[in-house]
Amino acid sequence: MGKLTLRLVKYFVGIITLVIVFCFLSVSIFLSFFYSSMQYNDLKTASSKIYDAMKSESEYLDIVSEYEISSAILLKDGEMKTLTSTKMGTMSIIKNINLEELSIKGKYVTHLGEEFLYYNNNTDMGYIILLKKNSFSAEYMVTTYIILFIIFLFVLLISIPMVSILGKKLTNPIIKLQKASLDITKGDFNIDVDINTKDEIEELSKGIKVMAETIEKKNKMQRDFIANVSHDFKTPLSVIRNYSEAIYDDLIKDTEKKKFLKEIIKEVDRLNLLVMDILELSKLQGNTDILKREYVNLSEFLLDFKSAFKMKLESKDILLNIKLLDYDIEILADGNYLYRVIYNFIDNAIKFSKEGAAVELYAKDEGRDIKISVRDKGIGIDNNYIDDIWKRYYKDKKSGGMGLGLAICSEILALHNFRYGVISKIGEGSEFFFLIPKKSLDRI
Ligand code: ADP
Repeated sequence: MGKLTLRLVKYFVGIITLVIVFCFLSVSIFLSFFYSSMQYNDLKTASSKIYDAMKSESEYLDIVSEYEISSAILLKDGEMKTLTSTKMGTMSIIKNINLEELSIKGKYVTHLGEEFLYYNNNTDMGYIILLKKNSFSAEYMVTTYIILFIIFLFVLLISIPMVSILGKKLTNPIIKLQKASLDITKGDFNIDVDINTKDEIEELSKGIKVMAETIEKKNKMQRDFIANVSHDFKTPLSVIRNYSEAIYDDLIKDTEKKKFLKEIIKEVDRLNLLVMDILELSKLQGNTDILKREYVNLSEFLLDFKSAFKMKLESKDILLNIKLLDYDIEILADGNYLYRVIYNFIDNAIKFSKEGAAVELYAKDEGRDIKISVRDKGIGIDNNYIDDIWKRYYKDKKSGGMGLGLAICSEILALHNFRYGVISKIGEGSEFFFLIPKKSLDRI
């Protein structure tokens, strides 16, 4: 028997014992009290019926037998007269009791231990005293106690196996959860916690399942992070190593050295950017606390991008059109992170557009939401990969980037609870957008 089941059995036995003790007490105190008061009432009724009968000089023996009266006595002017044939036992009472000092009702125990109840009715015909055997005697009580004790033993006998079965039913899911938590500790996240108890244990099992999934996801992310970092660092590091070794070994002509050093600097910059992006991404993932939301004037925010991209736009002779809402609005967002999203969208739009093309950044009122969109007429995206572009490390061969930009954008937008997406047609261009729910802008 498990510890929990044993505890359950102990509690159960305790409760049954309490109930039985309560029954014992009720029988002893209340039952005997109620029984006696009922008997006294009967005697009182019988006494007035006998009085009426005597008054009208009619038969009263029927009343005596109806109420199971042992003896009836009439006491008048110190003289005693038995109204019925005296039953066994009552004779000694009649002889021994002081009839003059008798109270209205009470008990009398004979020298043989028999208990009688009496009722003394003071009438104009004299005192009518009725005696009745008290059948609610100690004997009766003992029998009741024995029966209660047998019931107690019987209930125990039946309930212990029942409670232990019940206990097993209750503890099985807990044992299952205990095993699952051990598995998680050992790093096995494929746990079996399908529990359908429709109670707190089921809730707990769901919680443990979510916990296992979260830890597994975090573990995988950590492994991926290390794998990706080592993979992405390999190429630039080997370029840097080979070029610097060649320069050190004087294998490069003086006239060429600058070109190689420039390559080294480029690779170092790429590494630097990569480290920053990887750190940014791992910092963002699922970390809602990272956002510092504040109200930002949308028009001023969007207009800033013109100057931010001035050089890049000029170098490709691209025009950035900014279309604002025809009213002023403040959006609730982390300005720095949202800047990073739009920056990335515009940067890609310029990167994947031909020279002399146009890029558009616009804000549009769509009823429930405000849509922020970056549209280009560049190379477009193949529909087969349109969902992959948001994943980390997905990149176009010609991108020159690391494929982390949109992954970072998607994390930022998800943390803001802004829906986002892309519409694109190969050869015609792309539109990257996100939607700010107007409801989220209500000031409290
Ligand atoms: P990176 O720019 O470093 O390649 P991103 O995550 O920003 O990484 O973009 C991932 C990929 O999505 C790009 O390599 C490209 O294939 C595609 N993409 C993103 N924006 C555009 C765009 N405006 N037009 C065409 N393709 C794009």
